[in-house]
Amino acid sequence: MQLNKGLSIMVQNTTSAVDAVQCLTGCTLGNQRLVVQDFGKHNYTFISHHSNRAAELKMKDICYPDQESFHALEKTLAKQKGTVQQVARLQAMLDEWVKWLLAMEDCDVFEVRETSHLPPQAEMSSKYLVCGLCQDPVLVSRAVKLHGHFVCFPCAQWAQESHSDIVWH
Ligand SMILES: [Zn+2]
Repeated sequence: MQLNKGLSIMVQNTTSAVDAVQCLTGCTLGNQRLVVQDFGKHNYTFISHHSNRAAELKMKDICYPDQESFHALEKTLAKQKGTVQQVARLQAMLDEWVKWLLAMEDCDVFEVRETSHLPPQAEMSSKYLVCGLCQDPVLVSRAVKLHGHFVCFPCAQWAQESHSDIVWH
């Protein structure tokens, strides 16, 4: 098993683009060669572990055709149940955008530059400990220390937000 060989990718959104990246590259969440941070940005970093170089793709601020009427219709449909015609119109506009995007030159969609982003480290430890609050087994590297106890992320967040007395197990 050579987890650190080959390609790793970092993605900054949770759209269907993540599915495309996984399908096309074989870098998946499961094999830990894909790191997803949902910042709502179409930014992608491709890291070659062979050459130790990384390329960063950032989507440009693209002005879609008929953008205003699309967003107006989208807003209407979010507020109320639209007519079949309105829903079909929105889908047709989306389909047009996809065609329009695919016809563009790559360099007009993405800005590409070399970056010194560090490759994500593959998870090497498989050791688990038990969360001091919910009792779920949690990967050691994902546990955080809270008042001297190890807890999982959701419990740490809950403990930070809640001011009630915490009962430790
Ligand atoms: Zn927990």
